[in-house]
Amino acid sequence: MIRINDIIDKISEYDSDADLSIIDRAYIYSARVHEGQVRLSGEPYLSHPLEVAGILANMKLDPVSVVSGLLHDVIEDTRATPEEIRELFGPEVSHIVLGVTKLSSLPVSSSRARQAESIRRMILAMADDIRVILIKLADRLHNMRTLQYHLPGKRKEIAQETLDIYAPIAARLGIYWMKYELEEASFEYLQPDEYAKIESLVSKSRAERRKYIETVKGFIQKKMDEDKLKCEILGRNKTVYSIYQKMISQNLTFEEIYDITAFRIILATVPQCYEALGLVHSLWKPIDHKFKDYIGRPKPNMYQSLHTTVIGPFGERIEIQIRTWEMDKIANSGIAAHWSYKEGKRIDENISSKFAWIQNLVENQENFRDPAEFLENVRIDLFPDEVYVFTPRGEIKTLPRGATAIDFAYIIHTEVGNQCTGAKVNGRLIPLPYELETGDIVEIITSKSSHPSKDWLKFVKTVKARSKIRHWIKTQEKERSITLGREMCEKAFRKEKLNFNTLVKSEKMMDVVEHFGFKAVDDLIANVGYGKITPLQVVRKFTPKSEEEEEDNESIFNKLMGRVRKKKLKAGVLVKGVDDILIKFGKCCQPLPGDFIIGYITRGYGVTVHRTTCVNALRMNPERQIEVEWNQEANETYPVRIRIVSQDRVGLLADVVSNISKFGANILNAKTETRENKIVDSYFTIVVEDTTHLEKILSAVKKVKFVQDVKRIG
Ligand code: MN
Repeated sequence: MIRINDIIDKISEYDSDADLSIIDRAYIYSARVHEGQVRLSGEPYLSHPLEVAGILANMKLDPVSVVSGLLHDVIEDTRATPEEIRELFGPEVSHIVLGVTKLSSLPVSSSRARQAESIRRMILAMADDIRVILIKLADRLHNMRTLQYHLPGKRKEIAQETLDIYAPIAARLGIYWMKYELEEASFEYLQPDEYAKIESLVSKSRAERRKYIETVKGFIQKKMDEDKLKCEILGRNKTVYSIYQKMISQNLTFEEIYDITAFRIILATVPQCYEALGLVHSLWKPIDHKFKDYIGRPKPNMYQSLHTTVIGPFGERIEIQIRTWEMDKIANSGIAAHWSYKEGKRIDENISSKFAWIQNLVENQENFRDPAEFLENVRIDLFPDEVYVFTPRGEIKTLPRGATAIDFAYIIHTEVGNQCTGAKVNGRLIPLPYELETGDIVEIITSKSSHPSKDWLKFVKTVKARSKIRHWIKTQEKERSITLGREMCEKAFRKEKLNFNTLVKSEKMMDVVEHFGFKAVDDLIANVGYGKITPLQVVRKFTPKSEEEEEDNESIFNKLMGRVRKKKLKAGVLVKGVDDILIKFGKCCQPLPGDFIIGYITRGYGVTVHRTTCVNALRMNPERQIEVEWNQEANETYPVRIRIVSQDRVGLLADVVSNISKFGANILNAKTETRENKIVDSYFTIVVEDTTHLEKILSAVKKVKFVQDVKRIG
C-alpha cells in the first residue's frame, strides 16, 4: 500500500511550491471518516483513496486534484457533507468531489453498451472541471487493479463498463498508457481463457521478439540511410487486447497474426513518406491488397498515414505505417483513434480542438503554475449545445441545450408528447418550461384527455416537438372548422326546407364537392367553416334557380359578407386558420386587447370572443372552443365598464369625467347611485384602446379626491 509520504514526495518533486499541508490534512480527514471501513480485499478502505491519489500524483496533477482524490469517496460512503468539505478544503475541492460523486451515482450500467457513446458524452458533459474526469479515471483504474476481490458476475459487469466507457474516455483525453491498462485488465476479466492463451503465446516469444524488432529496424534504417532519408523507426508489440481484436475482426488464428509487432516510420514531409514507401517495397515484396494510402485519402476522423504489409526477411508478414510527425501527432492525440472513428461519425472540429487542448493540459499541466490560468483551463464545457438525460428506464436521450420536458416527451413518442400533462425530474414535479440538465431523470405524466397547448410553442426547443404541436393544432382547427361548417350548412339548408345531413351522403353532394374542387365532403365543409365558401353557395347547388336570381343572390350575399368582413377587421381579432368569420364580443366580459381571450363557435355562424376568465365562457362546451388572438395591427377602440366608489362631494363627477377625457377616452354611458351613507357608486361605459390605456385611466381616476375605489367590471 502506498504511503502518504510517498505521495507528498512525488508532488514536491514536480511542484516545489505546492501547499503540502492541505494534502496532509486531507489524508487525516479521509482516514478519520473512512475509519472502520474495509475493502473487499480486506485492506482498510483508506488504501483505495490513497492509491487513487498516488495515480494522480504520478500523472503530475496539481495538489487540488490529489486532495480531491483522497476525498473522492467521502461524500458517497461516509457521513461527510459537501459543506464540511467546502469549509475544510475550499470550494474548488468540494466542487470536484461533488462532481465525482455525481458521476458515481449516474444510473448507467454495462448492460447499455449500445448507448456507450451517449454515456461517454454524458460523463464528459457532467464534469465541468476536467479534473473530475481524471479522478474518476484514476478511481476506475485502481478498481480494475483490485477487481479480483469482486464476485465473478460483478467483475464482468465492471470490466465491460470499463471497456465500453472509461478506456475510450482515457484515449480521448490522450492518456494512452491508461487506455491500454484499462483495456488489458477488462479483457482479462471478460475473456479469461482467450486472454491467458494469447498472453502466454506473446510472452513465450518475448525475448525473441525483442531481437526480431531490432533486426527489422536495422534493415529499414540501413535502406533509409542509403537514400539519406532522415527518419525515426518505431517497433512495438501489440497489446493482448489489440491482437485479440485483430483475430476477431479478420477471423485469424494467433499463428496467422504475423504483425504482432507493428513498425512505424516517421519522416518530415509527405514526399519523403512516399519515397520511404518505395524503399520499403524495394526491400520487401508488398502484399497487394494490404496497401492503404490514407495520406491521399484521409480517414473521416482526419487520420493520415500510409499502411503497407510486406513479406519480411524471414518470410513473415510485417505491418508498416509511414507518416509525417504532424500526422503522428494527430493520430496520437486520441481524436482519431477511438472515439469518432468507432462511431463512424466525423467529429466536429470545435470538439476535437477542445480535446486537443485538454490533452495538452494533461501533458503539460506542470507548466500551468499560475493557479488562475490553470483554473481557467480546467473549467470546460465540452458539449455546450447538448444535454443528456435519462428515461425512467435508464436510457439516455440527447437533447439540445435549453430543451424542456415537452421536447423530451416528443422524442420518446408523438403520442407521449400530445398527451403530456406534466413532468417529474429526479422524482419532483417541475413546471413544463423547466430547462433539462445533463443527468436529469425525466418522467412524463400523460393523460388520454390531455392535449398540446399553443403555449408550449413558446418554450420548446426541438424541431420535432414544434412541428408535432403545430400539426396537432392544425388538425384540431380543421376539426373545429368542420363542426362550424356543418352547423352553417345545416342552418342554410334548413331555411330551404332541406335536410343537410341526409343530402350530405347523396351522390349529388359528391358532384358538388367536385365542383368546388375538393376530394372529400369534409374538405368542402371545412372550407365553409373557414369562410372560404358560403353555405349559400352550397345550398344553391341543391335548389336550382334562374341565372339572374342566382346572380342577385350572389351579390346580395357578397354585400352581406362584405359587411361581415369589414366587421371582422374592425374587431381586431384573428381566428387561427379561419378567414371571414363574424366576430362578436361577449357583452358579459367586454374583452380588451391585452386580455387573454378565447373564442367560442356559436350556433348559426360566427365566433364570440370572451376573456378566458369569463364565467359565462367557462360554462360553455369546450368542444366549441377555438383559439383567437388580438390583431396587433387593428387600430380599434372597445367599450368597457368601470365602477367608481367615492364619497360624495361637489364637483366629483366633473373631476372624474375630465380625468377620463384627458386620456382621449369617450364616455358612452354614465350612471350614479348614491347610497345612504353618502357613498356614491358611479358606473361608466368608456371606450378605450386596450388594457394599458384602461390602466392609465383607472389610476388617474383613483387619484381624484374622495375616490375610494375604481374597478373594471364584467
Ligand atoms: Mn472510489
